[in-house]
Parts: sequence; C-alpha cells; structure tokens
Amino acid sequence: MKIETTNTPAADIDASAIAIFIWKDEPLTGSALDIDTATEGALCCLIKSGEVSAESLAVSKMLAPVGVTAKVVLVVGLGAKADQAPGLAGRAVGTAAKSLAATARDTVGFFLDSLDVTEAVAATIVGVVGQGLYQCREQLTPFKKACFSTDDTAAVERGKILGDAQNLVRKLVNMPASDLYPDSFATEAVNVGAASGFEVEVWDEQRLEQERCGAFLAVGRASAHPPRLVIMKYMGGQSDEKPLGLVGKGVTFDSGGLSIKTSEGMMAMKCDMAGAATVLGTMQGIAKLKLPINVIGFAGMAENMIGGNSFRLGDVLTSRNGKTIEVHNTDAEGRLVLADTLDVAVDHGVGRIIDLATLTGACLVALGTDIAGLMTNNDQLAADVKAAAAACGEYVWELPMHDYFSDQIKSSVADIKNLGDSRWGGSITAGKFLEEFVRETPWVHLDIAGPSFSDKPKSWIDGGASGCMVRTLVEYAE
Ligand SMILES: [Zn+2]
Repeated sequence: MKIETTNTPAADIDASAIAIFIWKDEPLTGSALDIDTATEGALCCLIKSGEVSAESLAVSKMLAPVGVTAKVVLVVGLGAKADQAPGLAGRAVGTAAKSLAATARDTVGFFLDSLDVTEAVAATIVGVVGQGLYQCREQLTPFKKACFSTDDTAAVERGKILGDAQNLVRKLVNMPASDLYPDSFATEAVNVGAASGFEVEVWDEQRLEQERCGAFLAVGRASAHPPRLVIMKYMGGQSDEKPLGLVGKGVTFDSGGLSIKTSEGMMAMKCDMAGAATVLGTMQGIAKLKLPINVIGFAGMAENMIGGNSFRLGDVLTSRNGKTIEVHNTDAEGRLVLADTLDVAVDHGVGRIIDLATLTGACLVALGTDIAGLMTNNDQLAADVKAAAAACGEYVWELPMHDYFSDQIKSSVADIKNLGDSRWGGSITAGKFLEEFVRETPWVHLDIAGPSFSDKPKSWIDGGASGCMVRTLVEYAE
C-alpha cells in the first residue's frame, strides 16, 4: 500500500472513496463542511434526518454524491467532543479503513481535519490504518494507495513504521504453533534484525545449559522444538548510556504441561508468545525510527508440552541466579522462562527493564480483556510507562505490590514456588515471583494476557492478535 499526503479538498480528490469525521452536535467544519457545501447541504440534511449518525464510531455512507469526485463518502461519527477518550482518532480512522477495505479500492482519502491531529495522533492514525487492514479472519482488501490530508510527512512516515511494527507482532502471534516455534521465531528475529538494523544473537539449548538456565530449560524440555533465547541489540544512543531492557515471554504453545489445560483453555495458546513478539516488533520500530537510545530485547522462547521428560509437580528447579523454585503447577511456566531471561537481562547491564507477558488468567478476571496489568518496583518508571500508554490510547492499570504477597510464594522445600497459596491475587503473586529475578534494576511488568489477543473483531481491528503495547513502548523509548 502506498501512503501519501494530499492538499486536495475532500470534494475534489480523485479517489475511489474518502472518509470524513464528524462530531456530535457540533457545526460541520473543514472537510465535512466542504462535502456539505459540494452536495448542496445533503450531509447536513442526512444528519438531521438521522440517516448519518455522529455517535462514536458509527459509520454511514453517502453513495455517488453529486458534486463530489469520489464515488463513496464514508462518514465516521466521533461522538460528543466532551466525551473524547485518548486514542479516539486512531480508532476512528481504523474503523473507516476497515469498513472501506471490505471492497477492493484503488485510492482512499482520509480527511483528518475534524480530529485533533497533533503530530503524535497523526502518526498513530497511519499506524492504525495499517492495523485496520491487516487481515486475519475477515476478508479485507488493502488499498493500492491511501492519502492523508496532512502536510506533516515526518508524522506519516513515523506512523507507517509503527503500523508495520504492530502488524509484525500480529502476524507472528496469529501464526499457528506448528509454524511458529522457538527456532522459527529466532530465524524471523534474525531476518527482521538484518532488514531493520539491529544485531541478533540466539542462544540454543546447549548455551542455555552452559548459562545454567534451569528454570527456562525445564519448561521446554518435553517439546520436539527446543528452547531459544533471542537477544536483540540496538545501540543508537551514547556508548556510556545503560540500555533499556525489553523482556518478552515467548511460550509458542502452552499445553499447560502435566497440569494440562482443558481443550477450551488450550485453544488460543498459540498466542502465549505475544510478549516476545511485542519485543521483536518494538525493536523493529525503534531501529527503523533510528531512535537515539540503546535497547536490548530478550525473547525467552519455549514450547510447554508433555512427554516422558516433562518437568513435574514437586520438582525443584535451580534458576540462573541460584534461587531454587518448587514447581506447584506446570501451567505457571511463563514466570519460569522469564526468571532466567530477566537474570540474563540484568547481566547485560540494562538500566531499566520492561517485561511483557501473557502471564495470568487472573489478570483477565481483574481487569477484563482490554487492559494490561502493570506491576513495578519503581514508581518513576511506572509513571513514565503509564504516560506513554496514555499518549497512545492504550490501557494499563497498576496493581499493588505489597510485601505480604511475597509470603504467598514461599516454599517449604525451596526458596520460592511458582504459584501463590491460593488463586486470589494471582497476577500479583506472579509479579512478585518475577521481582525475585530483577535484583535492584528498576522494572515494570506488563501482564498482557487480556489485550494481546481478542476472540472477536472490533470496528477498528480484526479479531486475533492486537499488537498492543508496541506503540506504548516506542513512545516510551522516544
Ligand atoms: Zn501456562
């Protein structure tokens, strides 16, 4: 898809279709007024009669309007200005893109002037257009060309990079586990690194053995696809600047192990590597934007399967940092992979760590399907990540990390166990477990079990993988 900017008025642009955006109970301005004038008041008339709705994300079509060059004018409602939520612009343009992509079209024009097009929003918009067009289940046809009514070409370029990064995550997460396993993910990372400008080092199972990654290796032991730790280095900053560490859980399929999941619970478990994919997508975005920062990404890749050599309940694993872990449930495997991966990150001298993981069902119970749980040992880092998320219209919510939650992961036979005493506060006990492995490094843990994958489509995005948090992480890095 070609992406261009345009100065041509909405009524005159030579396009198959155009999208305009209107606020509820506000006079028409800009491109919407331009269309209304060209159609001799038809748009106003349709709004008054209720045929065109200005409710939030409502979509209406004017077909072959007289006085307008484009054959279709898609009108997307924005709701009341006072109710405007962060990220509305992105969702509105995504909705328009997805709706228009139901039919094959050459050129589509997006007229953004009703939206609050700050540079950040404009960029996000282009990213989200790509998102609206990334097809997984629905039959969508990408446009040959998309034109945006802005002269900020830098913002458009940034948006395209963000959209591509997000779509990379979605592609990988949507891939079946038969195609995407630790080694094929590593190969993908090597290719992405070569194409976008960062170094990739892959630790195989022998190296992980040498590095004493006993918790990580236990999880992948029963799989025909051995574990990999993928280390991605982008050094765009000063040589003395401590790198930002991004750590992702990459369980390419989670059967639950001997604590086997139900058939229903296993259905979407190809998505259990979304954290690792998010790290890879973010590395691509940061490298392509050539940000002046040092970042190292760590993707801990393993497949949690069942065999004669499965790790067992009651086993005591020795993690890389020496702490012993009693296994109380083999389905609480992500934290075992992350334990050693976080330790490797700390040894690489990172100054801060943000980890991402589809870690707990408890996070869905607590926060629903659209909000990532945030846990931290550092209020300033948490505040910065929250601010970045808010700027992108992505949702995070902080969960408390009181010390007494640590008591719930004490073991009578090892230093800690991989499950809390009860299921209550399960996201937090998982967070406290991870905290054991970051030493003094400022750290934020994002539990993305909810927002990373959706069973159902939304008006602005297809079902399946969402690519959430890529924009937040790039924003934070910036
Ligand atoms: Zn699991």
